[in-house]
Amino acid sequence: MAGLALQGALLAAPAPERRTTPGAAGPMAQPCAELVARLPNVRRELCEAARLAPTGVRSVRGREIFWRDIEPPQPGLRVLVVGAMHGDELSSAAVALHWIRLAETPPADTPLAIHWRFVPVLNPDGVLARPPTRVNASGVDLNRNFPTPNWARDAPVYWEKRTRRDPRRWPGPRPLSEPESRFLHQQLQTFHPQLVVSIHAPYGVLDFDGPSVPPTRLGRLYLDQVGIFPGSLGNYSGVHKGVPVVTVELFNSLRTPTEAEMRQMWLDLLRWTSERLAPTATTGLPLPAAGAQRQP
Ligand SMILES: [Zn+2]
Repeated sequence: MAGLALQGALLAAPAPERRTTPGAAGPMAQPCAELVARLPNVRRELCEAARLAPTGVRSVRGREIFWRDIEPPQPGLRVLVVGAMHGDELSSAAVALHWIRLAETPPADTPLAIHWRFVPVLNPDGVLARPPTRVNASGVDLNRNFPTPNWARDAPVYWEKRTRRDPRRWPGPRPLSEPESRFLHQQLQTFHPQLVVSIHAPYGVLDFDGPSVPPTRLGRLYLDQVGIFPGSLGNYSGVHKGVPVVTVELFNSLRTPTEAEMRQMWLDLLRWTSERLAPTATTGLPLPAAGAQRQP
């Protein structure tokens, strides 16, 4: 399947030039050719420098999911950053790639050594579809597919009644029905992040779920907690597992913020993380009270 899907993608692509970068691996091993062609404000150098590595996990259409770990010698905190859970929010993957570059050279006065795990493109099938799609190749909104309590009761009802069966928001046949959501769920269980940053677009706000005092702003994005949804990552991780989720909603799905703005967002995230998460970093974050936070 993977080979066929890849062949299809290659056949559909513009006629390839014969000039190739010396030492460049094939598209299955190195995702940059496809990503650079699709993502806004991502040059080849930026993508190559991100050194994305295969996770061994594949999407519905057999596309590899890539990640990048940046681990200092004695990390005080683990942070998971996820882009393009929704495939048509192309800017979210681009911002994740820019943040990888910033994470590699943290400011000298950063008080907290952070082990970063970046998954810039959780939904490669959605990103690389023509046109890109919010949902994955099974038509599932991955951000409604996480196993929140009472998912079987709440998620389908929410979809039918509140979204009026919006095909862009189908929660799937059951929680974790999709390889992409299963992969992210597995990361929560094995990497044990103390913070999850999920990048989206285009609502131009900052959302927050879970314990701790939320950041009030990242760059020009201000906190506006919009509520929680059955099966969402924020609901599952932040509310029910007690691992805070910062949801970054960029202003535009097809354009990144400026370089200066992306850097400011990054610095604001670092400052908030150091102030709010560092004191408990060695003992783990307090668990939320049972049934605490907002209810769907
Ligand atoms: Zn989104």
